[in-house]
Order: sequence, then C-alpha cells, then structure tokens
Amino acid sequence: MDHRGRLRSLQHSLYVHKFDILLVTHLPNIRYLCGFTGSSGVLAVSERACVFFTDGRYTAQARAEVRGARVVIAQKSALIAAAEWIKSRAKGLRRIGIEGEHLTVSSRNLLAANLGSGPRLKEAPPLIEQARRVKDVDEVRHIREAVLLGASLFEVARQTIRPGVTEIEVAAEMEFAARRAGAEAMSFETIIAAGERSALPHGRASEAAIPVQGFVVCDFGVILAGYCSDMTRTLYVGRPDESARRMYEAVREAQQAGVEAVRPGVTVGELDQLVRKALKKSRLDKYFTHSTGHGVGLEIHEAPRIAAGQRETLLPGMVITIEPGVYVPGKWGVRIEDMVVVTKNGSEVLTPTSKELVAL
Ligand code: ZN
Ligand code: ZN
Repeated sequence: MDHRGRLRSLQHSLYVHKFDILLVTHLPNIRYLCGFTGSSGVLAVSERACVFFTDGRYTAQARAEVRGARVVIAQKSALIAAAEWIKSRAKGLRRIGIEGEHLTVSSRNLLAANLGSGPRLKEAPPLIEQARRVKDVDEVRHIREAVLLGASLFEVARQTIRPGVTEIEVAAEMEFAARRAGAEAMSFETIIAAGERSALPHGRASEAAIPVQGFVVCDFGVILAGYCSDMTRTLYVGRPDESARRMYEAVREAQQAGVEAVRPGVTVGELDQLVRKALKKSRLDKYFTHSTGHGVGLEIHEAPRIAAGQRETLLPGMVITIEPGVYVPGKWGVRIEDMVVVTKNGSEVLTPTSKELVAL
C-alpha cells in the first residue's frame, strides 16, 4: 500500500482547502493513510508533517504498522497529545480541520479546551473518503480475495438451509466457515431472512425457523486484510410457483441491467434510475425501497452512494454494489447483490456466484 503517496496527496488537498492541519480520527481513514489497524489513535497531518498519536497499549503495534508518519505514544489521551503538539507548533496555525462526521461532541470540546484561544476547529470536507472511492491495484486485489472467500459461504448456506433450521443456525455455520477460512470478521451482521421475514430489507438472522415454503434472502460478507465483501443471493425453499418465479426474474433482470450499465462516465443517479426503470416494467418499482448500491472498501458502506439524484460520476477503480430488491410486506422479498469494479472501458463483476434461482 502506498501510504506515503496517500499522505502526500492529502497534504496537497489541505493546501487547496486552506487547512493548516487536519486531525484524522476516523479509524478506517487512519488505516488508509498510515496503515495503523488498532482501535485508538489520532493522525495529525499538516502540509509538512504527519504525526500519529496513540496510547501505550499500541506502542509495539504502531511502530510495526505505521508508515509515513512519526509515532508518538501519548501519556494521557491521544487527542490531548495532538492538541499539545499543535500548540507547540509555530504561531499562525489557525484552521484545524476535524472530521465532523466522526468526531464526538465531547472529543471536540476536549480538543478545544486543550488548544486554547489561537487555533479554530473547522469541519473539513470528506477529503479522505473522496480519495478512498477509487481503489488502487493492491486494494482491488484484497477486495477480490474477500469477495471470493465471501462467495464460498453461499455454498454453506445452500447446504444448511432447510425447513425447521433457524436463521441464526444458518448464519452461525456461515460465520464459522468464514473464520476457518481466515476471515478477520464478517463485514456486517449476517442477514438470513426467511419466509415473511424476507420482506425486511435488513432482516438480521433471528431465532425464526425456515418455513417449508418461501424465499430466503442471504446477505453477507467478510473482511480480509481490512477489506470488505458484500453479496446477496435469494433462494427458495420448496417449489416456487409462477408468481414467485416472475418476481425473482424481474429482480434478476433489473440487477443485470444495472451491472451491465456500470462504466466510467455514468452518473450514479443514472444507474439508480435505470435499475428502477427495469423494475417498473413488471410494476415492482414501488416495492424497491432502498438505494441501488454503495461503494465498498475498508468500510462496508462507503462513497459513492448509488441513489436517486446523486450526480457523482463513476471512475475507473471504484468498487460498488448493485443490489436491487423487491419487498412485499407480510408476504416475501427478493434481493440480488453483486460487487462490481469499474474498469477503464467498462466494468468487471467480482462476485462469481450464479444468479439462477436456486430451489431447495
Ligand atoms: Zn449486502
Ligand atoms: Zn450492500
């Protein structure tokens, strides 16, 4: 990973946005910039210096992992140490950027109290999140590996799902297999939503037993080398009747239309609209109640958001999901989700799993 290059380009954007220092507190951003994978620290970036503050628990880890920044082990809190470092700098430091989406009010107040009257805390634009949208070759390689490991869990789901087994038991088998295969963690709480529960877009695996008949939405992913995977397949227990097949095929066609439209230059709003239009043909668009997809990387949900009205343009190196779903409350739901990387001339689907309806 090119941590030094990332820090350099952040330093350049600080200059452009007229910030004297940016205090990075969001852990995925810290990891992206300097490689630290622990759970506490502050990275201070100025035009000329990068200093990473953490506490005594991370002395060895920070020294081993951090690249491109000097490591300071704080006696008290990392935040106070960062404030003291800023105060000790030459006079004239006025604009200190903070990550408004991530810094708590009490941390902000602690910073302000320790900075004194000179420097002003200002919410910085999401500069690092913007940089993280486009993945480099190493990142795409890690994501690809996470996607393949994640996809192997669908086999476990297929083998475990049968009437009477609880959703939690299915999730447990998948998660055990994930850990055995080397996953650091699941990228989010595994969704296994069977029967009527398949109409809940975020139906976390529950104590409910798989019924003898109906859809089962399986949405899951793993973290490998810090990078997330995310996929959804919906299978059917019992024999799907005509209306179940029609609904499944409508979602599959809309999802496929979305996947095929991914290329540089398309705006994410257009992509969302195209998927909705495809569902409209079968009059199912009113049951599609969430956005079409999202970026995936060090976090499971990151920029860009593939949603109505968003103007952002797809760029080579972005990794996104395409995941339309149709949810008929009290009855059933279907969602299909792939991960796709935008390439120079088009796109490549990373998720290797077939989208044919599986009936168990
Ligand atoms: Zn998902
Ligand atoms: Zn997703």
